[in-house]
Amino acid sequence: MFITDCIFCKIIKGEIPSKKAYEDDKILAFYDINPQAPVHVLVIPKAHIPSVDAINEENCGIVSHIFTKIPQIAKENKLDGGYRVISNCGDNACQSVKHLHFHILGGKQLSENMA
Ligand code: AMP
Repeated sequence: MFITDCIFCKIIKGEIPSKKAYEDDKILAFYDINPQAPVHVLVIPKAHIPSVDAINEENCGIVSHIFTKIPQIAKENKLDGGYRVISNCGDNACQSVKHLHFHILGGKQLSENMA
């Protein structure tokens, strides 16, 4: 379930500290260490999935679970004016941590540029 050298697996196990925004038995949300917006939360599955590219019929339930919790996390962080959800997938998208994660960005007017 855990990958030894994965930073996010270490965060889930408590080996690396994080500031939690939400947690249940399947997912963890925590504040990004290098925020790109006033509110920058990462939402990850506890089971290691490398990226969006590894989502399949067997493991896709976790994605709907994450997306049912994102509005709650957004509300708790007062993102009433709107927010952006991003998942970088692979090298061309500059994915730096190879554990599926969704960025929630908000707390200001975001740029129209997405790439
Ligand atoms: P990505 O570039 O899409 O793979 O996003 C990885 C994100 O993880 C970046 O925004 C990093 O700032 C963030 N990050 C890396 N290490 C940590 C950490 N220990 N705690 C919180 N966020 C982290």
